[in-house]
Amino acid sequence: MEKIPHRPDPESPENEAAVNGAQATLQGITVGVLGGGQLGRMLAQAVKRMGGRMHVFEPQAKCPAGAVADREVNAPYEDIAALSAFARDCDVVTYEFENIPTAPLRAIEGLTKLRPHWGVLETAQNRSREKNWLRKNGLAHARFAEVAAGGDLAGGIREVGIPCVVKTADFGYDGKGQLKVMNETDLPAVLARFVGQAVVIEQFVDFACEVSAVVARTATGETAVFPVAENIHTNHILDFSIIPARVSPGVVAAAVSTARTVADKLDLIGVMGVEMFVTRGGEVLVNELAPRTHNSGHYTMDACNISQFEQQARAICDLPLVQPTLKSPVVMVNILGDAWTGGDPDWATLKARPGVHLHLYGKAEARPGRKMGHFNLLAHTVEEALIQAKQAKAGLLRI
Ligand code: AMP
Repeated sequence: MEKIPHRPDPESPENEAAVNGAQATLQGITVGVLGGGQLGRMLAQAVKRMGGRMHVFEPQAKCPAGAVADREVNAPYEDIAALSAFARDCDVVTYEFENIPTAPLRAIEGLTKLRPHWGVLETAQNRSREKNWLRKNGLAHARFAEVAAGGDLAGGIREVGIPCVVKTADFGYDGKGQLKVMNETDLPAVLARFVGQAVVIEQFVDFACEVSAVVARTATGETAVFPVAENIHTNHILDFSIIPARVSPGVVAAAVSTARTVADKLDLIGVMGVEMFVTRGGEVLVNELAPRTHNSGHYTMDACNISQFEQQARAICDLPLVQPTLKSPVVMVNILGDAWTGGDPDWATLKARPGVHLHLYGKAEARPGRKMGHFNLLAHTVEEALIQAKQAKAGLLRI
């Protein structure tokens, strides 16, 4: 008989108990995270709140996650001895950063539980593998072609057609390593930029909007999907996440079902962000998979009955998931290093604004484009939240 995954009703006493009993749920458990950025930091905060211990492995000293963890190990990911010792000290290890080499992760297999499995990271961290995986698993995506290092880039662009987007196969996120070809005149610069590199060429999607869903899945196949976010990017970096997304119920259902299918087919244990384009015809196409907590899920910290970080801890530690509910319309705004251009931002004015919940990542150096923090702005309607969020952001940037 087919096993039906356990999925508690959000209103049930069981779900309530899971949320309210958070304080001691991880008593005696040590969670490890590879990568010490803001996602690791917010996971560490959740694990500590749940009564667990948190260890962080990060090449760079004094990382944001290390500041709130019980232990910080600084060594290269390729240092198998250090990584093995780290793994042995943890009941479970996860990762918060996609560009971790998978070879060392294979080497520590068996020393601890690595969740999600390194195979999930391997698929998601390379755009060629990711797109081929989507194709193989029948998930809708933009048409694409691959060009191997030193291959015929111009031929690949002709095959997909202009307009298109050329992306490096490896190490791409936040629009890094990608250029649009909107017309013939863009071609010479793009050919010069990617010479000798393995790339994926994607059809340019003239989307109506971008949405994402954060999905959690346990080892028993239980899943929970957070409310779908509508995302607005500026210079390829997430600027605003708007929840609930201003799309039709049909699009929401398609996005939720896509996220759940991706998690099931990857045999995910943990959480992941699934980024999608919504075409003008209402079709939902998968753009990118991130097998970790996601920037567009930061709103859950203040606007849901459970945050994506606590859900991540629950999923990797074999606790039942909490079915997420949205307590209030919300807009999440990323705070980039650019906000420091004229000196320290005016936090007092921001914090005084009704509905604002501010989260800073404790990064010492503010560089343009660097994610330094975010705020969630809760309001009675999503329209009001967006108006307020834009005003709050303009105030912070003094514009
Ligand atoms: P990525 O790093 O692939 O997530 O891309 C960053 C952003 O660039 C996306 O969120 C979109 O706003 C834009 N973008 C990426 N690929 C495409 C595409 N094929 N068509 C249109 N816009 C794209």
